[in-house]
Amino acid sequence: ALQCGIVGLPNVGKSTLFNCLSNAKAQSANFPFCTIEPNVGVITVPDHRLVQLEKLVNPQRVVPTTVEIVDIAGLVKGASKGEGLGNKFLANIRETDAIIHVLRCFEDENVTHVDGTIDPVRDKDVIDMELQLKDLETVESRISKTEKMAKTSKDPDAKRLLDVLLKYKDALESGKSARVVELSDQEKQIAKELYLLTNKPIMYVCNVDESAVVSGNQHVAAVKEAVKNENARVLVIAAQTEAEIAELETFEERQMFLEDLGLKESGVSKLIRLAYELLELKTFFTAGEKEVRAWTFPAGALAPQAAGVIHTDFEKGFIRAEVIKYNDFTNLGSEQACKEAGKIHVEGKEYEVQDGDVMHFRFNV
Ligand code: GDP
Repeated sequence: ALQCGIVGLPNVGKSTLFNCLSNAKAQSANFPFCTIEPNVGVITVPDHRLVQLEKLVNPQRVVPTTVEIVDIAGLVKGASKGEGLGNKFLANIRETDAIIHVLRCFEDENVTHVDGTIDPVRDKDVIDMELQLKDLETVESRISKTEKMAKTSKDPDAKRLLDVLLKYKDALESGKSARVVELSDQEKQIAKELYLLTNKPIMYVCNVDESAVVSGNQHVAAVKEAVKNENARVLVIAAQTEAEIAELETFEERQMFLEDLGLKESGVSKLIRLAYELLELKTFFTAGEKEVRAWTFPAGALAPQAAGVIHTDFEKGFIRAEVIKYNDFTNLGSEQACKEAGKIHVEGKEYEVQDGDVMHFRFNV
């Protein structure tokens, strides 16, 4: 399964956020290094369409889809040189598919900051620099291998790879992340295989006090300005408050608390949806009387691959897919009504599954 990693300096609110996100209670304390082992949380993706389908189909059970989030152990200055839990931390990041970078944008004298003052842009730069230094190491070692190949074999692929590596080297040496380097589509394909840390899709989470959750504050404004060229999402969240909300018993109580803050939806549920987008994941549904269920597939997947998400046999023996558009299903109210209206589309192996499709697969066993 694809994973998002939560990173950030110690005491910025990573564990607090992770706790809100997952049922697994990671310990959270005013103490750097309290999250030593990477904690993996399997998190339900909120989806209003599932609620609609449940109402119409009235199934025995409803199964939402999930995304995995890992809370990665504390990073400090010098990690790329192996300080703190540096090497372990970087290895954990390498395994994730996207990054959620938590930045401390709240003031609180009782919570120690590793550098004494609140400055999320500086904090971001500290982490970026460690990741960039590690990437530079990767890039330089690949350059020395590739240079020889490019010379001796006259292999055009080696030459192309070398070009990409040199572009990255330039950027990394001047304190930029790999993700800001402009590449052609062909070069992007080559770049993928380098698995650079600073090339992963990223979302910045500004952790604020509840008073700033709607309007932001000067720290949030500074972060937005600093990342405007990165093609990154910025989400403002009050992790501490969300943790308190999560403790409330009923949905109504939680909703009331959110509305008092001026929010329609919890920050956590926004974060999960954004993480899902960051990972380029989409959802299709199956809607039978036994079970209404959401399934995750990678954007661009063809019908057999999507069928394979349910069962490998569905992919191997794939014959065809019967597809109802979500809007047709909810407008007409049932599969039978869709059938009568000619709204069931029969699709073959080349069909690119769309977000929201309600699917039936036909296959040989
Ligand atoms: P981590 O080291 O990044 O995982 O940070 P933690 O989640 O353990 O948080 C460190 C401390 O900051 C804890 O005492 C939290 O209760 C506190 N904290 C986290 N988020 C907030 C926030 O939004 N506002 C305030 N005032 N405190 C927070």
